[in-house]
Amino acid sequence: MIPFNKPYLTGAEHDYLSKAVALGKLSGNGHFTQLCQSFFEEQYGFGKCFLTTSCTDALEMAALLLDIQPGDEVIVPSFTFVSTANAFALRGAKIRFVDSKADFPGMDEAKVEELISEKTKAIVAVHYAGVPCDMDTLQLLADKYNLPLIEDAAQAVNSFFNGKALGSFGKLAAFSFHETKNVHCGEGGMLVVNEPQLIKRAEVIWEKGTDRAALFRGEIAKYGWKDLGSSFLLSDLQAAFLYAQLEHLARIQARRKAIWDDYSAWFSGKKDQIQVLPLSFLQLLEECLKGLGDVEFQSQPGNYHLFYLLFENAQLREEYIVRLAEKGILAVFHYQSLHKSEYIQNHQPEEYARHLPNAERFSDCLLRLPLFFDLPEVVVEKITS
Ligand SMILES: *Cc1c(COP(=O)(O)O)cnc(C)c1O
Repeated sequence: MIPFNKPYLTGAEHDYLSKAVALGKLSGNGHFTQLCQSFFEEQYGFGKCFLTTSCTDALEMAALLLDIQPGDEVIVPSFTFVSTANAFALRGAKIRFVDSKADFPGMDEAKVEELISEKTKAIVAVHYAGVPCDMDTLQLLADKYNLPLIEDAAQAVNSFFNGKALGSFGKLAAFSFHETKNVHCGEGGMLVVNEPQLIKRAEVIWEKGTDRAALFRGEIAKYGWKDLGSSFLLSDLQAAFLYAQLEHLARIQARRKAIWDDYSAWFSGKKDQIQVLPLSFLQLLEECLKGLGDVEFQSQPGNYHLFYLLFENAQLREEYIVRLAEKGILAVFHYQSLHKSEYIQNHQPEEYARHLPNAERFSDCLLRLPLFFDLPEVVVEKITS
């Protein structure tokens, strides 16, 4: 089978893992953690960065930092990963769901304001496929209602809005280094704290509710329990793995761009522009589409995180998945709209009852094609075997 994703290895991971082992500090906040955090702070102009065990954990840190309480409301797109909403639901917040745009799965910024009430405590912007939300519109709203803007930038590493890096706009931003993302360490994440007043408390929450990090810096003589927190730190072993990826970020992005550009060129009829994907593979993808109606394809590249096709309905999409599987190609759909989830049905029936037509359409009709660094080689291997 040609998989949907194959985690990329740069080749430097083993060296850095050995180095981390030799350094002898394997828990969090060690040598490689510092290197990774500085990389992001310097490269993208982020505020203070904290490596976490996942983006889910980074979002849970954000909910703690904002003191989200039962009865509060948080505005989140419906077409996103569970964690975007779950992190705030864990603290007792009610989730208000924003629909997707008509022509893109990302949240419709124009539909945020109608959801704002006295109970609203935060707006969470999700940069779907690493394609930026309109941060000007969202920032204006956040300022108008004095609400914190949070970025779920899980998919959005090395992506920009008006020349400024995603993750540098919100008071807080969360990234993912799960193996399905552009750069990864198996499981991992990062919280970016762009609001200086929140940094000190973020560090305590990160360190299990203690001021142990200040002790390590020699600022205090003993540490203690200061606040709520949890075990959010990434092990330095995983940070070592991640650093190997970060050093090759430009190469990883260039390869993903070449693959993305090939898909885009092929489906828009510019078949003389193909660079890295074998033509026979692209021809096969196209042949399998015969008789499946009008199919749209993704037009905004973002950071080349994914490439999707959009079918007229769920049955046509399912037929295409089956046809590709018969040819040994794995393609997968994406999020089930969260406002239609079992959790929301049981806990917020009023949100479950809402009809968010665009999000529901992308849940039913969107299909992602394989996109990973080694895809051209994997395809060639399959053709010749
Ligand atoms: C991947 C993803 C997450 C979760 O990331 P983890 O690191 O697996 O916790 C959250 N939100 C979005 C939009 C994602 O794509």
